[in-house]
Amino acid sequence: MDILWKAEAVSRVRFAAQKARALDTASAFQQDPPGKKAKGRSSDREAADSWLATLRFVHSGNSLRQPRMADLPRVGLICSCQTKTHPARRSAIQLQLKTILNCMQRFVGFVYREVRMHCHQQQPESIEIRIEPHAGIRGRCSRCLQPAPGYDRLPQRRWLFVPLWGIPTHFCYAPRRVECAEHGVVVEHIPWSDGKRPVTCAMMGFLARWARRLSWRETARAFQTSWEAVYRSVDWFVQYGLAHRQLRGVEAIGVDEIHWGRGLKADHFLTVIYQIDRHCRRLLWVGPRRSQATLRRGLKALGPELVKGLRFVCSDMWKPYLQVIAAQAGQALHVLDRFHITSHLNQAVDQVRRAENSRLRAKSKKAAQRLKHMRWLLLRRGSRVRGRARQKLNALLGSKLATARAWDLKETFSYFWKYKSVIWAGGFLDYWCFRAMRSRLEPMKQVARMLRAHEPLILNWFRAKKEISNGAVEGLNNKIRVVTRRSYGFRTYNAMEIALYHNLGRLPEPESPHRFC
Ligand SMILES: [Zn+2]
Repeated sequence: MDILWKAEAVSRVRFAAQKARALDTASAFQQDPPGKKAKGRSSDREAADSWLATLRFVHSGNSLRQPRMADLPRVGLICSCQTKTHPARRSAIQLQLKTILNCMQRFVGFVYREVRMHCHQQQPESIEIRIEPHAGIRGRCSRCLQPAPGYDRLPQRRWLFVPLWGIPTHFCYAPRRVECAEHGVVVEHIPWSDGKRPVTCAMMGFLARWARRLSWRETARAFQTSWEAVYRSVDWFVQYGLAHRQLRGVEAIGVDEIHWGRGLKADHFLTVIYQIDRHCRRLLWVGPRRSQATLRRGLKALGPELVKGLRFVCSDMWKPYLQVIAAQAGQALHVLDRFHITSHLNQAVDQVRRAENSRLRAKSKKAAQRLKHMRWLLLRRGSRVRGRARQKLNALLGSKLATARAWDLKETFSYFWKYKSVIWAGGFLDYWCFRAMRSRLEPMKQVARMLRAHEPLILNWFRAKKEISNGAVEGLNNKIRVVTRRSYGFRTYNAMEIALYHNLGRLPEPESPHRFC
């Protein structure tokens, strides 16, 4: 106890001495000690003592009290109230925030001059970090980054920085203009900014990272900025990533179309190209529409080297894609996606059910009951139907309805994917098509015709089985749906494109010391 008390006493005396010195050097404190006013040298010690008492009260005293703004300068800020006409004054330990900034984000040729907090009616409004050029280092040309002699100084500009304690924070700096031997009079290179954007690179990276977790509107609301600022930040982030990404080692791609927006117009579809190698699955390219021209544009954007190096291309049976892939990536093994074939089969079963249902309803209401509430049950994989649903399905299969036969054909086809040998799989496909053609069910016959027409491409699936991950394309499609749902849809194509690259592109990120998520 004794020692503790002594230590406290020593520190108190030290602090009082410091305080007295500070008072000496003029009005260094924001707030005068309560109850006493610094009259002159004689009363300095008394003033310091009483100030100390207040400080102790604030430190240890009642914790229920809300911290006042007047207490805040101790964290290293200068507080200036706009409502009053106090001149801004320095606090005793002013270095702290500057030290953090110097540690985390140092810009060669620039110094953090001071950190100032503006308040309005005792509430913090904004923090300003004033930056000045280093006296001994010349500004650099913004185009060639070479040091150049100074020309003049532009008016002060503000850049939005990562908010500190939830208070909007700005960098303030008056940029110099330099006279470059090669480029003439230009604005100097400002390392925390990109072009004329009013947001610092650190803040743009910060917003873009959060925009991956929240919707853009939510991000803007959480960090007290506009949707526009978030959009531009994500755009900057994505452009950086696209410019710096590596496209080497891409061996398998998947091509697919995605419906976007309302209606079935050509403009409401997107063509997407994914990388579906086992080690890396990512979005490589997005483009509007699903025509031959779109896919050609996409492959051109990826570069001829990548297209020539492809070993597998996975797509659905959309004709324009098949033609372009055959023409441009002939060396690659073209695989038809398993998911699309299954969905064609499911659609055929559903068509049979609907046609039969309306036929039964025309006959009698009671007969139509047998197919009621059967839609999802029939579309599910047979092994997944259990309990009461299974009983219902068994009852249906026991009947002589066309739907039962269609379901049986669909279920038989699932064995096709279990083959390992291409020859045996081909044999099975022939047998299945033979059965389907004699089933007297037009939708099933259509599927059989389609499968026969694309037989070589379908059998390629067994040749590529171990190389590409099945369901990768569908998994990525699902993720696209999640991205759009999180933002409640995108109004413009550009916003959608940027969001997709941002979330699925696995793009490299600009370096930043601020990693909050
Ligand atoms: Zn230059």
